[in-house]
Amino acid sequence: MADTPAPWQATVLSLFPEMFPGPLGHSIAEKARQSGLWSLKTLDIRDFASDKHRSVDDTPFGGGSGMVMRPDVVDAALASVEDVPGRRIYLSPRGVRFDQAMARELADGPGVVLLCGRYEGLDQRVIDARGLEEVSLGDFVLSGGEIPALALLDACIRLLPGVLGTAATLDEESFEEGLLEYPLFTQPREWNGMSVPEVLLSGHHAKIAEWRREQAEEITRERRPDLWERYRGSKE
Ligand code: SAM
Repeated sequence: MADTPAPWQATVLSLFPEMFPGPLGHSIAEKARQSGLWSLKTLDIRDFASDKHRSVDDTPFGGGSGMVMRPDVVDAALASVEDVPGRRIYLSPRGVRFDQAMARELADGPGVVLLCGRYEGLDQRVIDARGLEEVSLGDFVLSGGEIPALALLDACIRLLPGVLGTAATLDEESFEEGLLEYPLFTQPREWNGMSVPEVLLSGHHAKIAEWRREQAEEITRERRPDLWERYRGSKE
């Protein structure tokens, strides 16, 4: 009998481990976890503090507002998961922008170790010493790395083999071909005086595919000139 593949391993280091699994404890992600397709381990960074106050942060050298997470504490937390496979990612607004291609790369690997920042962020030395990859959810500032970590994990988990029904569903989603998704319609056929585009009722698969591609291209061109340029470049 073939061996059961090892689950994709998500390891999260946070000052608020109780925020996990949060939304990942529901629906598709929870079912997949129960089926052994992925596993979740959370660590409380505060458990690695060495003083009696369990301090994890201190004031920034050079002055300025806010607090900075201490490198020695974060390093000890990372050392405790040294044998865990997968890329080491620090969620940070300064990071490279997370996207579907990165979700796919991560989902193809053994798992991921995510470090959630708080306060003003991490001491630079532990980022450098541990070679952490900085990854951003987008050009905005959240209070902590937990929401980005949940979003990143959700995007990866739904790409794991066996989590969603068919691979075809994934292939047609936004970003998979460099385009945003075409408009979707379901029952009822008439709603509020609006009907469904005739071609979708034709049963003509090639025409439907053509219509959907045209729509996807138009929406991408209008809404996301950056994606549109990249898509056109890839076609040339
Ligand atoms: N002082 C930091 C700056 O200006 O870049 C912002 C720190 S933020 C208040 C605290 C933590 O939230 C960060 O260390 C990071 O882990 C997380 N965070 C905030 N915005 C994020 C984003 N857009 N993507 C990923 N992580 C983010």
